[in-house]
Amino acid sequence: MRLIDADALKSKLQARHDNGNDDFDKGYNIGLGTAIDLIDCAPTIETEQKERPQGEWICTFHSTFPQYEPDEYRCSICNCVGNKRDKFCNVCGAQMKGGKE
Ligand SMILES: [Zn+2]
Repeated sequence: MRLIDADALKSKLQARHDNGNDDFDKGYNIGLGTAIDLIDCAPTIETEQKERPQGEWICTFHSTFPQYEPDEYRCSICNCVGNKRDKFCNVCGAQMKGGKE
């Protein structure tokens, strides 16, 4: 997950949307309008949450035969299964211990 300024992105898309007036632009504008709608529907991070939570991958299943069945790792924040090599949890966005942005 990468935090971006959704309002700035929406403003740029809206400016391009408003500049096109010929037949070619009509189809282009439909796509831009869809993108703007998707930004409006995207989940938001609470404003009080100024920093990413810091978590770590916790091994919840240690395989006896890793070549056939891999170890299982879970996020210490949300308990979802993830890949211990990921820098961030794909579900809650926590930065994992040892990971760099
Ligand atoms: Zn998580």
